[in-house]
Formats: sequence, structure tokens, C-alpha cells
Amino acid sequence: MAAESKELKNENLVIIGSGPAGYTAAIYAARANLQPLLITGFKQGGIPGGQLMTTTFVENFPGFPNGVKGPELMDLIKAQALRWGTKLIEEDAISIDLSKRPFTILTNTQKIKSHSLIISTGASANRLGLKNEKSFWSKGISACAICDGATPQFRNEELAVVGGGDSACEEAEYLTKYGSHVHLLVRSNKLKASAAMADRVAANSNVTIHWETELLDVSGNEWLEKLKVKRKNTNQQDEIFAKGLFYAIGHTPNTSLFTNQLDTDAKGYLLTEPGRPETSLEGVYAAGDVADSEWRQGVTAAGSGCKAALAAERWLSKNNLATLIKRDDLEPSKAETTKTLEVSNKENFDPDKTWQKGSYALRKLYHETEKPLFVIYTSSSCGPCHILKPQLQRVLKESQGKAMGVEIDIESDQEIAKQADVSGTPTVHLFKNKELKEQWKGVKARSEYKSALESLVD
Ligand SMILES: Cc1cc2nc3c(=O)[nH]c(=O)nc-3n(C[C@H](O)[C@H](O)[C@H](O)COP(=O)(O)OP(=O)(O)OC[C@H]3O[C@@H](n4cnc5c(N)ncnc54)[C@H](O)[C@@H]3O)c2cc1C
Repeated sequence: MAAESKELKNENLVIIGSGPAGYTAAIYAARANLQPLLITGFKQGGIPGGQLMTTTFVENFPGFPNGVKGPELMDLIKAQALRWGTKLIEEDAISIDLSKRPFTILTNTQKIKSHSLIISTGASANRLGLKNEKSFWSKGISACAICDGATPQFRNEELAVVGGGDSACEEAEYLTKYGSHVHLLVRSNKLKASAAMADRVAANSNVTIHWETELLDVSGNEWLEKLKVKRKNTNQQDEIFAKGLFYAIGHTPNTSLFTNQLDTDAKGYLLTEPGRPETSLEGVYAAGDVADSEWRQGVTAAGSGCKAALAAERWLSKNNLATLIKRDDLEPSKAETTKTLEVSNKENFDPDKTWQKGSYALRKLYHETEKPLFVIYTSSSCGPCHILKPQLQRVLKESQGKAMGVEIDIESDQEIAKQADVSGTPTVHLFKNKELKEQWKGVKARSEYKSALESLVD
């Protein structure tokens, strides 16, 4: 699609990234009547909602005494930003020109000009680059235990995690819920994780820690079966049987768009004034993990998003660049938050309801409807599923009743997931008259689902 297809007016402030840093910046800027434009990201550098979309419980974010699921927390922060008038573009920023003011930002479909910019693009999970890594990616290898751990292929099987930090320990512990045993492969002779986390994993009899062990490659047939490792102290090579391998080997900041435009440190993290959000260019601010290789927490990211928005507001106002919106109502209407959908059963099943949940609805619709049927396989802690569900629901709404959708939780409907050969969430199958017409793994652009559906509707 041509980037120039739609040109927007000059924005006050564009925020890039939709993790806790980006959405918090948006809340502050929107409340200051700047009507910020937030580019959520889509595929580059993580997922919309950021890293917390890939975790189960967040126990340390203030205000949630009993913890909160990562995706749920991000839904709430997003709803707060939208309530105060943040505008969203659900795409990646693909190029940015900071050489002229106003700055220019391109997405796949839009060209945007903005006086100021907050960069909150976070950091992405690293890969090892093993010889056979690509062949087994999503066929046993994953970078997110929390997203994919509940997959049927991992149930009661031996699993492995690579890494020695907090994420590696958290993932190893989490995977003991599903696998028969978890091998934690650690390159050095100690864990970098916090003492509490390291003690927990060391005390767990379902986790074996392989010290000074380097992963050399992976092998299998259709699915991952073996890990080839080298014991560094003896140089001996061994095989470990594992049906799942989870990477937890650190992150790289998402700053490639700013190479040679902004100052970074040797690892690519954006450099700012100590404890402040200003980057090396006036009017451009950094917030969250993209400029923080040390603290990297939801709450520190949110705090720095707040600082960045306040700094941008002051700078815009000092330079007479802010165009403020006028609010008719001082208090905007209450935020919309997602409601839990009830599982369909014999009593409440409604053949005309376009979006339902559970195996009962699936069986009924699969056998009885003549309309195209989307089946989305999800799991309760799958962040990308939170992004995909509203996209598919919008496609169904736009089809004006010409298609149906069913949501299957692979944890509560394990047998169905197994029969459907689902190897990760989210997975979407599109059926017409009991025939599988298309299938997708992960989150795709809404237009992909829409055009597949349109080709089936007469
Ligand atoms: C498994 C795991 C568990 C964690 N648990 C906790 C916890 O319990 N408590 C806690 O406080 N912290 C936790 N963290 C850390 C926390 O998630 C991060 O510190 C925090 O999310 C950083 O926020 P951020 O907004 O800076 O970036 P991120 O959350 O990384 O978000 C970055 C955003 O930028 C977007 N983006 C990237 N490139 C582009 C582009 N080109 N165009 C547009 N958008 C782009 C991405 O889509 C994403 O939305 C955890 C992290 C992980 C991985």
C-alpha cells in the first residue's frame, strides 16, 4: 500500500509504541488536551500492548493488591488513554525523518507530520540464530512460554528453557504446570535472576538446572524432539530430549528507526538526560525500556511515559506549537472495558449470535450453519489473543451477520484443540460447510481475515 495514500494534519504529539510507557504518555497528553496520536505497532518490535501482553500475573503494579493479568492491565491502561481522546493508528511506524520540522512519520498507509515525538518502542526478545531454529520455530520453539505453554503438544512432555535471568526462571516455573519436566539451560555457573526467583526455581524438583551448558542446535521431524548441547566445563556434547524449547535470553531495544538520527549507547538504547526524558534532539522524548537497560519494569516505564508527556507539553507550549482541543464535557463518558463472554451451552446457545464461546457452540455451528465460520483458539494468558479478538469481531460486524465466530479456550477444551492440531495461540481457522478454507497462526492484518471471508460470501 502506498504510504502517501492519506495525509494527515500536523499533530501536536505522536507517540510510538503501546506498552505501559506509550499509553501512560497518552493519558497525560490527552488530559492536557493535546489529542495525541499513538501508533500502536503491529509486528515490528513486539505486539500492541507491549511486553506485558506476554505475561500471566503482574503482582507488582501499584493499585492491584491481588495482582492482575498482564493483558488485562494493558486493556485498562489503553481504555484510560482512549477515554481522554487519544487517537490510535494500529500499524507499525516504518520510517521516521527527524531532519526537518515538523517531523515526518510513515506507516504502511499514512504519512503523519508532528511537532513533537515520544518514542516508547520498548525492546524485543533475542533469538539464538541456531542452524535449525527457523525449521522448528512455532513447531516446538517459542519466545513466549506464557503465550504458548498451554499448547497440547507440550502437555506432559519434557520442555526446556534457555537463559539465566528472571524471565528464564519465571518461564521454567510456569512450564512445570504443563510439561512433565523442565530443563533450564544456563550458560554460566550462576543465575542472574533475583535471589527470590533463583531460590524458587532451584527448589522446584520439576526443574533441572544444567549449569555451564550451551545450546548448539535443535532437531526433530515435523516437531522438535532433541536439543544438542555442549557442557562447557568438559567440552562434552550431549542430547536432551525436549518437545518444547523456550527462549528467555534478553532483549534488544527497538531503535533501528532512529539510527544516525538520535544518540544511543553501545547496545542501541536511546540516550537521554540522566533521569529525564529528553533525547539528543529537542522535541523528541524517550520513555520506557527503549531508553532503560537497567530497571525495565511496567511501573518504571509508565513513570517515564508520564515524564515524557509533561516535558512534551511544556516544550510545545513554550514554542507556541500546541493546538489544544476544546472539550464540550469536562468529564468524558466512562471508559469501555472488555466483558467476559459466557460459554455457550444447550440453554443459552443462540444460532443467530455472531460471536460465541466453547465446544458446544463450535459443534452446533460447525454442523448446522451454512455461513462461513471463524474458530479462534485462545488461552487465558495469551496477549496476542486480546488483540486479535476485537479485530475478528469487527470483521464479523462489518459482514452484517453473513459470518459467525467461535472462541475456543485451549485449556478448557484440550481435546478439541488436539483434534484441530493447534500448536499455539492464537490460531484461527475459517470453515465453510465443514471444509477448512484458511488458517492463520498469530495475529495478521484485519484485511487478511476480511478478504478471506469476502471470497466465501456470495
Ligand atoms: C515475560 C515478562 C514478564 C514481565 N513481568 C513484569 C512484571 O510482573 N512487572 C513489571 O513491572 N514488569 C514486567 N515485565 C517488564 C515489562 O513488561 C516492561 O518493562 C514494560 O512492558 C516496558 O514497557 P514499554 O512501554 O517501555 O515497552 P514495551 O512493553 O516493550 O512496548 C513497546 C511497544 O512498542 C511497539 N513498537 C515497537 N516498534 C514499533 C514500531 N516500529 N512502530 C510502532 N510501534 C512499535 C510494540 O508493538 C509495543 O507496543 C515483564 C516482561 C516480560 C517479557
